[in-house]
Amino acid sequence: MRVSFSPGYSAPLPERHPFPMSKFAALHQILLREELVKPEEVIEPYEADWEDLLRVHTYEYLNSLKNGTLDSAEERKLGLPWSKGLVRRSRLAAQGSINAAFMALEDGIAANLAGGTHHAFPDHGEGFCVLNDVAIAIRRLTHERIIKRALVIDLDVHQGNGTAGIFSSDPTAYTFSMHGARNYPFHKTPSSHDVELSDGTNDNLYLSTLATHLPLALRESQPDLVFYLGGVDPMAGDRFGRLLLTRDGLHKRDCYVLQTLHRLGLPVVLTLSGGYAKTPEMTADLHAITHREAHRIYG
Ligand SMILES: [Zn+2]
Repeated sequence: MRVSFSPGYSAPLPERHPFPMSKFAALHQILLREELVKPEEVIEPYEADWEDLLRVHTYEYLNSLKNGTLDSAEERKLGLPWSKGLVRRSRLAAQGSINAAFMALEDGIAANLAGGTHHAFPDHGEGFCVLNDVAIAIRRLTHERIIKRALVIDLDVHQGNGTAGIFSSDPTAYTFSMHGARNYPFHKTPSSHDVELSDGTNDNLYLSTLATHLPLALRESQPDLVFYLGGVDPMAGDRFGRLLLTRDGLHKRDCYVLQTLHRLGLPVVLTLSGGYAKTPEMTADLHAITHREAHRIYG
């Protein structure tokens, strides 16, 4: 499987910052070590063009990112301190999702070893999300008339409020989000299809709920391409998760999603979104579950 990755995905952060910035490089190492990805299948993106970003984000917001003029309230909401490296990493990850989308259309499946930054809105970033890479990739493909409609399957434990907002009156994407009802964002922006889970939801309830709702979303959306945000923060013990999935539960979740898409012959782009295990390496190991399942199913 071809994957987008750049060492530039990790930008320096202040010490003890809760965002696991080194998980991207750690995941890249795991995938090479386990031979889930060959070195020649790692495609390095360049920084996404402003033109691509402007199909999703406002000129004013992009300008303040470029010039480093976010005010302190905007920075607090984003949860990350502005730096040139942060803007660079966000643009690299956005291009990584664009490239992965083109690769998935050719190969049936491809991945970005970052992305899924679903809390980014047109005019602001929040919840560690600067740019909405998935929306940027979808708008690029629909702009070029390569696809008519995408489905976003967002299984990060936090609702995909930014993506939902971007496509609220744009039928070129169908947004499906299954998330913790009482978790961030506390004010939810309606997706095409939202599924709310109670705190403490376990494997069985999670998987049966997914099996009830995902087929409905697939039927309603009729997509040409799927973006899968396989966040690993529903895992028990996640710092921000509040659910109780096990490793086995994450395997079964990813297996179910990918087997369903494979059976339907729908091309899929894998992106990471969130995960806050004890260490960035442990988080990366959980993200690798999606790739282990993809390797088993797609060979
Ligand atoms: Zn999350």
